[in-house]
Amino acid sequence: MDTRSSGQDTRTPMPSEHGTVMAEFPSATEADVQSAITDALEAKQAWGEMSFHDRAAIFLRAADLVTGKYRYELMAATMLGQGKNVWQAEIDAAAELADFFRYNVSFAQEIYDKQPTVNSPSHHGRTDWRPLEGFVYSVSPFNFTAIGGNLVSAPALMGNVVVWKPAPMNVYPSYLVHQILLEAGLPEGVVQLVNGDAETITRTVLAHREFAALSFIGSSDVFRSICAQIGQGLGEKRYREFPRTVGETSGKNFHLLHPSADVQNAAKHSVRAGFEYAGQKCSALSRMYVPQSQASTFFSEMKKELARIEVGPPEVFSAFTGPVIDQKAFDRVSKAIDTSNEDDRLERIVGGTYDGSKGFFIDPTIYVSKVPDHPLFDTELFGPVLIAYVYPDAEFDRVLELIDKQGGGLALTGNIFSNDQRAIRKAEDRLRYAAGNFYINCKITAAVIGQQTFGGSRGSGTCDKAGSSGLMMRFTAPRTLKEEY
Ligand code: GLU
Repeated sequence: MDTRSSGQDTRTPMPSEHGTVMAEFPSATEADVQSAITDALEAKQAWGEMSFHDRAAIFLRAADLVTGKYRYELMAATMLGQGKNVWQAEIDAAAELADFFRYNVSFAQEIYDKQPTVNSPSHHGRTDWRPLEGFVYSVSPFNFTAIGGNLVSAPALMGNVVVWKPAPMNVYPSYLVHQILLEAGLPEGVVQLVNGDAETITRTVLAHREFAALSFIGSSDVFRSICAQIGQGLGEKRYREFPRTVGETSGKNFHLLHPSADVQNAAKHSVRAGFEYAGQKCSALSRMYVPQSQASTFFSEMKKELARIEVGPPEVFSAFTGPVIDQKAFDRVSKAIDTSNEDDRLERIVGGTYDGSKGFFIDPTIYVSKVPDHPLFDTELFGPVLIAYVYPDAEFDRVLELIDKQGGGLALTGNIFSNDQRAIRKAEDRLRYAAGNFYINCKITAAVIGQQTFGGSRGSGTCDKAGSSGLMMRFTAPRTLKEEY
């Protein structure tokens, strides 16, 4: 792949077939990053002065290219690069990517339409929705092609220029998204795609005086470390303005069954939430709390569902789920499985096996913990492994406390399955801060733009919801004007 970077070549293997190279690209050197920032800043004035209508038209054209001319190419890149099956790839790289472009236009419009409502004949107030003064640094993850599209379109639609670093495993789909934006009419300098070593790129970006905002999706640890570097820069008065930090990060997400739950429904949703895309959505299920009276039916329903599904590479259309993304993920999850298989406190219900000979395949795995406080309830694995705790039916209140306390300080998604309205309202109340997205009688993955906004709190991020004008508000520096006559 030809990009503007001049450093050493990086190769990323296909997750389903690690002997095959998916993408090969030069890494950005410090000088490449510097010139990407300079070019972005040069493009800034003209872009900020372009009418919103013209900026919006570019993203609407890009959405049409995504669902039209480039639909299958984007899906293929997403399937081969991320190891997604055809359904997951279509939801991501066609539907959600186009939705982000289109909906972000209307979210931006909502903001531009906001003006003071009380004016008098003698004075007139208005708001000038200025872009930030410097540039935005967007860091996108490996697991969704659409997310890069959101991290770029939200600030750019508000008139900002963006330096965009996608995860190395997702460089090719991101490169395509960038090409589509250019074809749709985005002026050359506005979005600078830089690939390569995260530390070099981030260090160079954060050293720049014009760094104005971070828009990040990835792990909590990386987000924390970037925020700490920004804090240091602030302490040194390095930046012209106080940079905004926007992040959506890790999850240790839960399903809670109440004794009144429809068990079949809960089992079906749990299989999808836990094992679709090998559990590699930030929203994916990883801990379950099941009442004693429902446990045996629930687990046998889950086993039945799992017996029907296939784990396989993206080109096998019947495969429900595929590989984890790379060697590092495979090692992390398989090691946790080995340890758990030997752990007397855990009973393995299904799975516990893996095969890394050709691709990074891990079988859907469920453990039931005999103790309420096993460390797996607090450890994010980002793979197809679930841990469950079976609680005495009478201890529903106590399990709410446990859920709130567990999860390793993360609070992205969670739910309750119940047909008892009082139990539902109680859970909604007691778990108010345990999940940024709380679902009732449905799974915790696959928020649909326009229907559910998405983002977590506590260690899961800044709760600036994707799919909302709230997110876009972070990329504007409103100026208040008052005129008197
Ligand atoms: N928005 C996606 C969902 O609701 C998850 C995005 C992510 O993995 O960050 O499943």
